[in-house]
Amino acid sequence: MNYKDLADLIFPNAKPISYYEEKYPERNLPEGAVVTRFAPSPTGFVHIGGLMQCVINRQLTNQTQGVFLLRIEDTDQKREIENGVQQIVDSIHDFGIEFDEGMIDETHEKGNYGPYKQSERKEIYQAYAKYLLEQGKAYPCFATAEELEEMRKKQEAAKIRPGYYGVWAKYRTLTVEEAAERIKNGEPYIVRFKSMGNEEKKIRHHDVIKGNIDFPQNDQDIVIIKADGLPTYHFAHAVDDHLMRVTHVIRSDEWVSSIPLHLELFQTLGFKTPKYCHYAPILKEEDGKKRKISKRKDPEAAVSYYHEEGIPAEAVCEYLMNIGNSNFESWRRANPNAKMSEFKFDISKMSVSGAIFDLVKLLDVSKNVIAKYDKETVYEQTLEWAKRYDAELAQMLQDKEYSLKVLGIERGNTKPRKDISKWSDVKNAIFYMYEDKFFAQDIHYEYDKIQDKEEIKKILSTYLEKYFNINDDKKTWFDKIKDLAEELGYAREVKMYKQEPEKWPGHVGDISTVIRVSLTGRRNTPDLYEIMQVLGEESIKRRINKLLA
Ligand code: GLU
Repeated sequence: MNYKDLADLIFPNAKPISYYEEKYPERNLPEGAVVTRFAPSPTGFVHIGGLMQCVINRQLTNQTQGVFLLRIEDTDQKREIENGVQQIVDSIHDFGIEFDEGMIDETHEKGNYGPYKQSERKEIYQAYAKYLLEQGKAYPCFATAEELEEMRKKQEAAKIRPGYYGVWAKYRTLTVEEAAERIKNGEPYIVRFKSMGNEEKKIRHHDVIKGNIDFPQNDQDIVIIKADGLPTYHFAHAVDDHLMRVTHVIRSDEWVSSIPLHLELFQTLGFKTPKYCHYAPILKEEDGKKRKISKRKDPEAAVSYYHEEGIPAEAVCEYLMNIGNSNFESWRRANPNAKMSEFKFDISKMSVSGAIFDLVKLLDVSKNVIAKYDKETVYEQTLEWAKRYDAELAQMLQDKEYSLKVLGIERGNTKPRKDISKWSDVKNAIFYMYEDKFFAQDIHYEYDKIQDKEEIKKILSTYLEKYFNINDDKKTWFDKIKDLAEELGYAREVKMYKQEPEKWPGHVGDISTVIRVSLTGRRNTPDLYEIMQVLGEESIKRRINKLLA
């Protein structure tokens, strides 16, 4: 009996690996093309760090005419939830990111390097496990849960490194005959990797983001195939990244400590190692301290949060690009109208220590993104958001023609309005423009300098009687407000007032504030002339007459 016989006993039906090597050939891509993947478990949850990875991966693969694929890592079936794959696909899709290959919904996929769900690749992993068994580089292990527990306790008591290695690797030294005997007797087992590493020796690894790192070699005989016949993450990722011809493994740096193991696996399997790029976690600052943004504590850790808040996908992606490469910000300043895809992302320039996530900054980015949108885009995106999250707003937007006028106020010019940073801001920003909403609310007209009721009435009635004409152009309109100011004894220019403030009760600006507050209930609004044009004569009169009464 030799290794080959033992391998045949364990995996009698596994194909030779040459079959898969031919089935998944090297990709025919331009020089320098990056092939990378997003490889979540099907938990349905996408963390903001995962989305950042997708933004970066998409950018890099577009830049190099490479391939970005979605692989579902479902070998730990305890973590699965119903529709978990679909939710992940949808979440990423919500941010305008498409995969070139991989899962497209819960059960379907596209691409020639699949299956893209690990649970459907069982026979592939077994073929590679068999290949290792045949060479004596893997072995069946019969340790029971009790045995492993006892080993762990002994290690703990003796204060030595935990794990299954060296002298602790009890079943490593079974002869093939002994192992075969146990298998034939129906003893349960799993398959372990036979490490040749020595903990006392060092290896040097070059990480694309972190640079050179020295590690002790791996010496753990990790499990590669579990009792259920499925692989562990470590083994599966090596086989998959090899067969999917992945060039760059871009992943969160919680995996960096697995590097010695992963390098040994690649080497032993005869695979070319991909480039590893371990990115730092996104941090949050709280009480002056930095910590990882956490799924448990921070609502903004889940990408669904941004969708619910109505922060446009484009803004979130821009902000994440910002976190990815800090020079993005200056690029954006120099190229305010360029598409984000024109930015040249450099993965090696990612932060080693982790960037701080700043919601205020994100909203600032978002405000500028929205300011560039035309009214149709604002309308469509707000409506889409409102249909899901705000029925009242959706109802307001029913009147499309009028809503487009409202949303068009101070938009599409050189200094667009910037009071909207998310779709959930829109209702408050436009509420008073809707007649029924305006009259239904209990308005506290907070005037500014001019507070006296009789004075306000005089301003409004004189305005309506003598100066208001909806057909005036902007200059005439403003000249008339100046005339009104003058007639009532106010300075017609702010400048005049500033020179001799004691001479006047106020200036033209105070007069227009009275009109503004009366028409909108607010002191701060976008351009009053544009507002009045959209409201129209009837509404203006109704609003003012309500006050006069
Ligand atoms: N399934 C692993 C995770 O979700 C993937 C890590 C990797 O990208 O290799 O963390």
